[in-house]
Amino acid sequence: MVRALPSVLRLGHRQDRDKRMTTHVGLTARAFGSKNMYLPKMDSKVRDTLKDVTKRFGGDFEVKETKNWKRLIKEWNGDVVHLTMYGSDIHEFFSEHDLEEPLMVVGSQKVPSAVYELSDHNVSVGNQPHSEVAALAVFLDRYNDRSIPDRPSGELGILPSREKKRVVDYSKVPSASECFEFARKRNMSPELMEHSIAVLDRALHLQKRHGGDLRLIIAGALLHDIGRTVTHGVEHGVEGSSMIQEKGWSDELRKIVERHIGGGITKEEAKEAGLPSRSYIPETLEEKLICHADNTAGGEERFSDLIKRVKRAGHEESAERMRSLAKEFEEIL
Ligand code: SAM
Repeated sequence: MVRALPSVLRLGHRQDRDKRMTTHVGLTARAFGSKNMYLPKMDSKVRDTLKDVTKRFGGDFEVKETKNWKRLIKEWNGDVVHLTMYGSDIHEFFSEHDLEEPLMVVGSQKVPSAVYELSDHNVSVGNQPHSEVAALAVFLDRYNDRSIPDRPSGELGILPSREKKRVVDYSKVPSASECFEFARKRNMSPELMEHSIAVLDRALHLQKRHGGDLRLIIAGALLHDIGRTVTHGVEHGVEGSSMIQEKGWSDELRKIVERHIGGGITKEEAKEAGLPSRSYIPETLEEKLICHADNTAGGEERFSDLIKRVKRAGHEESAERMRSLAKEFEEIL
């Protein structure tokens, strides 16, 4: 269920003591989908930090000043929820209420008693003292039905990863129109262009079901075969990868292009094929997704023909990798 975005009123901010804590209230509010944090008195350091994070990581979160917080609460067009260890139990609360565009009120030290009276709800996240950041995170997580809301991306994207850090600089990921322009400059044939668009179509379908970074997937689909403007041999992945590198485009995109062939190529197979000696096995979700979209863009029949052809050419293991990619994407092919 898509819910209305909450806002946060942070009371009791002391410029000398609470900068870090209030910044963290703002960061938590933003990360869990809120749109504004109100402060009774603006702190420019807190505001600038949040502005910078929002510019880099996306969304349109804002820190605002409210000269009269009582009026803000009274005139709020939605539910006002005060988080306090003395409130009613959060589990009970969510089983009884469906909130509308909530204003979440949190304190730093003791809040004035008027807050209890003016708020529509006083809710506790366990009746033990802890922190406004923890209380806000737990409450918003419940409010969001335990999923983290999406937001428009900023300059950087952090991609989920089990191992190393994956940060994408979006200024280095070409838009669809930049991809088309590049393909035209490289004299991509109409047939190849048509194929790339079919791969994009498949890739978008897969992305809807399995996730993955949309910008990388669009550019990866449109440029995966850019190396074929130079050669149709197995080295077209490496050729494409060099072109992406020359353009100064993202390394995440470069690897998608380099690793898209078949179900990937092992280091040993690469050596045999005369490719630079490294592994070309797709690892990230986006790499695997483009690989599989390329294999299946022609439909089910073409995919089984492709597998047969790869096997006939003696590449049994490669065919197996293509099949297991199909399984990973839970497709019956
Ligand atoms: N005795 C204070 C109180 O009213 O909860 C503790 C102040 S605490 C350091 C700062 C803020 O953390 C509180 O104003 C409240 O918003 C939040 N908080 C702390 N413990 C909480 C709990 N168990 N449930 C909900 N909010 C809590």
